[in-house]
Parts: sequence; structure tokens; C-alpha cells
Amino acid sequence: MWAERPRGNALCKECFFHAFEEEIHHTIVHAELFKRNETIAIGASGGKDSTVLAYVLKLLNDRHDYGVNLVLLSVDEGITGYRDDSLETVKRNQEQYGLPLKIISYEELYGWTMDAIVKQIGLKNNCTFCGVFRRQALDRGALMLKVDKIATGHNADDIAETVIMNVLRGDIGRLRRCTAITTGTDGALPRCKPFKYTYEKEIVMYAYFKKLDYFSTECIYSPNAYRGFARAYIKDVEKIRPSAIIDIIHSGESLSVKKDIRLPVQGVCERCGYISSNAVCKACVMLEGLNKGLPRLGIGKTHKERRKMQEMLQQETGAADSTPCTDQSLKSSCKCENKTDQSECSSQTYDSDNASGCSTYSKSQKCKDGCSSTNPRTVAKEKLSIFGKLKQPPSIDF
Ligand code: SF4
Repeated sequence: MWAERPRGNALCKECFFHAFEEEIHHTIVHAELFKRNETIAIGASGGKDSTVLAYVLKLLNDRHDYGVNLVLLSVDEGITGYRDDSLETVKRNQEQYGLPLKIISYEELYGWTMDAIVKQIGLKNNCTFCGVFRRQALDRGALMLKVDKIATGHNADDIAETVIMNVLRGDIGRLRRCTAITTGTDGALPRCKPFKYTYEKEIVMYAYFKKLDYFSTECIYSPNAYRGFARAYIKDVEKIRPSAIIDIIHSGESLSVKKDIRLPVQGVCERCGYISSNAVCKACVMLEGLNKGLPRLGIGKTHKERRKMQEMLQQETGAADSTPCTDQSLKSSCKCENKTDQSECSSQTYDSDNASGCSTYSKSQKCKDGCSSTNPRTVAKEKLSIFGKLKQPPSIDF
């Protein structure tokens, strides 16, 4: 049996296995992806990429003595007829490879399954919701496991598609980082892609010849995914230029951004504490939209989303952060030193059980003196207490 490799040479089955594994080992060592004693969460979906990743990382960890601890981490998006079946594969992989497994679901994190989201929004932007929620869910799960890093099964084809998608969207910020082999070093947790230079075709061949147990059905909500168009385009280009995938990755790596281009500044979401370049992260905006029956809130332009969120908070709380209280009685009764003559308090300490000593705001958000102003931060915090809980994740022992 001979395996025709995308890079041109034909190898027998055993030599293909060895070349495939050692090329990944070279990528790991060259990019210094792992350090001894680290715990690595492998993002496991039961599909071919993550199944091969789990198998190969375990094999290389033993063969080359990396000295890392590997765990499987799965996200259950709540897609009946797809994810429930693929998770059964992950559970079998857990036994086959002897690796611990943690499954975290959208339902427990967000109170929504993808089935329910699609019911509300239809099949147009479902993957945008799913992608944003999955990214955060993986980080949340990894924090619960107290791992040092997440390894994902993104392969060379995926990265080339992402480059093309970011070019078409004109997204300079993402374009700059999408070819990096390790990302998120300034975020919740670093993520790495040991398959960055590994072709999808070879992953399929490896899984097939090794008879690995993986799930190959496509997501029932995928036909309209934007990525599918980028994939079809690259497949067409590959027909006339076989090295197209690796060329696109190298092009992405070679791009540099002019110094005077303003890029998004990373901060944290004021609602849930997750890394975000806006005051409120995308997942919180999307969740707010879903909970309010306004799903388009999360998929519009960022500045429009922020304005809409602000308006909604104002409607909900009766006053925005900066709205001065006009109730004259506050002037005399409020003892908080942050109050001005206009009775406006800007102190964030109102969030924490009235720590500033202000007697006019109570924890129940209503001014006891009859003032109609409320404390919007307290309202938002209590509404999204699920994220508050996850900010201090429980430890999980295997
Ligand atoms: Fe989620 Fe879309 Fe992927 Fe399905 S195809 S798992 S809906 S991102």
C-alpha cells in the first residue's frame, strides 16, 4: 500500500505513519509548543482532526518523553443528531487512549443549546453564535481543569481558509494573528495548533489506515457556513496550484501591519470578565440578544451593538451610569463621599454591598429614599450570575 503525499513523494504505509508523526513532532519541538510537566487540554470533538491529535500527541509524548499530562476537553453545543453522537466517540476515545475527559455544555454555560438558538435565529448566522460560544466554552472548561494550554486540531487547510476569510472580511486584527501557531498568550489561556502544517488529506489517510475510531458526519447546521465557500475556493485554486494551502499560510505569515494602523486593544468584558476588545464581549452581547428575543443584536456592527446594549440597559434600569439623580432629597440623605451636588455617584464600590457607605443605594438596586435611579452595574451582574460563578472556576480532580 502506497500513500501519495500532497508534498509529492509516495511512501509505503509504515513510512507514511512515521513521516506524518515525526513532522508533527518537528513542528512541536521547533515552535516549543509544550514544556515538561505542563497539562494540555486537547479540544476533542470526536471528528478526525481531534481524534488523530489525541492519538498522535499521546504517542509522541510517550515516544519522545515530552513529560506533559494530556486531558480531553469537549464542548457539547447541544445539536441533536450530531454532537450527541460525536460525544459518544469521544467517550470511547477516552477509554481507548486512557485519557481523562471533561465535557462542558452550552446549556450549562449559557442556558441555550444550538438547537434552541437555530429555532430562534434560523440557519443564517448560526455558526457565528456557535463559534463565539465555543471559543469561550473551551476556555471556561480549560480553566476548570486548571490546564496550562489548549491544543486544537486546526490543520493547514483550516488555517488557509481562515486567512482567506479574514482577507475577504478585511479583518486586519484577526489576519495578523490567524497564522500564529500559538495564540491567546495575553488572554485566558494559550492555544496551540500542532497540525498547523499538516494537510487535512493526510489526517484522513492516517485515521483511515490506523483504523482510528472517529465520527465523520457533518454538522446538520453546517451547509450555510461561510467557511464552506472559502474551502471550495481553495480547492479550486489547488487544482491549478497544488501548493496553494501552504502558500496561503506563508502569505499570511509574511503580512505585516503598518505601525499607524489602530488595532483593537484587549481588555476584559465588564459583564463576565472574559477577554474582550470591547466593554462587553461578543458572547454577552449575543446572549443578551437571545434572551431579549433580539438575536440580531450580536451579529451587527460592533458600534451599533454597543449603542443598542446601552439603550437596553437604560430601559431596564431606568438610568445609565452617567445619569445624575435629580431627586433633591438625595443631597441631604446620601452620606457617600462620591456623591456630588448633582447627586451623581460614579463609584464602582456600589457593586459590592454598599462598601462606600452610601445609604441611598441598596443591594436591591433601588434607592431607599424614593429616587428612581438604580445601579445598572449591579443589575447586569446579577442577571449574568452564571458567568460570575464561572469567574472562579471549581477545581476538578481526575
Ligand atoms: Fe457549530 Fe456551525 Fe460548526 Fe455546526 S457547523 S458545530 S453550528 S459552527
